[in-house]
Amino acid sequence: MPREPSKPIGRKPEPPPAPPKKYNALEVLGKVSGLGTDEAKRIFEQVKENQRRLDECVGPHDFQPIGEEKKFGRRHVCTLCKGEIDSINKSWYETGLKHGAEQAERKKR
Ligand SMILES: [Zn+2]
Repeated sequence: MPREPSKPIGRKPEPPPAPPKKYNALEVLGKVSGLGTDEAKRIFEQVKENQRRLDECVGPHDFQPIGEEKKFGRRHVCTLCKGEIDSINKSWYETGLKHGAEQAERKKR
C-alpha cells in the first residue's frame, strides 16, 4: 500500500494577500488638505478647464499679468484664450517661443 505524502508540520499556510486598496484621489486630497472632497473636486474641475483653454488657444498665447505681485511671481492670463499660468511657466513658454524661432531661422540658412 502506497504511503500518503506527509503533511507539513507546524504553521498553517499563509492566506493569499489581500487585493490592493483603491483610493479616490479627490477624497484623499480633500481629507489631507482639509478642503473636503467637494472643494477638492471643484478646484480640480477649474484646473482641467484652465488646461483645456490653454490647449485649445489659437496661440501664440499673449500672457498679461493679473492680480498682485507675490513672493514667487504672479499669475498671468492669456488675452486670447483666458487661460492662466504662473510666472515660471510663462517664462518657459517664452523661452520655447524664442528657441523655436531661432531654430526655424537656422534651418532657413
Ligand atoms: Zn492663449
